[in-house]
Amino acid sequence: MPPLLAQSLPRDPLWRAIFRCLAENLMPIAPQALREALVPLGTNADRLEAIAERVLHTDLGGEDALLQPIIASALEVYWTSMAQSLAITAITPLDVGSVCPCCGFLPVAAVLKSVADFANLRYLHCPLCNCEWHFVRAKCVSCGSEEHVSYRFLEDEAGCRRDDVRAEACDACKGYLKVINLEKSGGDPVADDLATLTLDLLMDQEGYGRIGPNLLYIPGNA
Ligand SMILES: [Zn+2]
Ligand SMILES: [Zn+2]
Repeated sequence: MPPLLAQSLPRDPLWRAIFRCLAENLMPIAPQALREALVPLGTNADRLEAIAERVLHTDLGGEDALLQPIIASALEVYWTSMAQSLAITAITPLDVGSVCPCCGFLPVAAVLKSVADFANLRYLHCPLCNCEWHFVRAKCVSCGSEEHVSYRFLEDEAGCRRDDVRAEACDACKGYLKVINLEKSGGDPVADDLATLTLDLLMDQEGYGRIGPNLLYIPGNA
């Protein structure tokens, strides 16, 4: 089992202090609707914990969609801090290679990077604890199919195919995951994913669904 399993690990109230700090800093710049939603949350621990439960079970959207990215941000800080303090020996490969071996979350994206003498190795990036784990290339992360995988690309202003981000689509399970070349992109998988929402629209039109969530963009929020 992942040592920091998102769905069942008891949470220290510290994460709510992280949330309040984020909320206070957002107040001067947040849209009015978000300010009005944030104010009562600061003193309502039960509601905060209830929304956190939904986020950690990837039960996203609905009436809390406006608040979920902010709460997810606080949980991300909390989980990333815990992951950093773990000994590397506490994390072991799982039988299911598609989920984070540290917290059990689905990946936000895959990244390609060079490690030691090996170029373009593929790792999956966790949106909750920011761990990365190795996963072979040209294989569907969701169902394991190798025969039904194909790629979709964005074009730049000159009509040239972009080589920093592409989507790996699987016709066996109709899932897709972006593959981000860290040496050619901005270098932050979560931000690079958000910066290429056009590719998500394209994949949605073609009938594919995301394999893992970006917790900072939850459809349905304002
Ligand atoms: Zn994780
Ligand atoms: Zn698949």
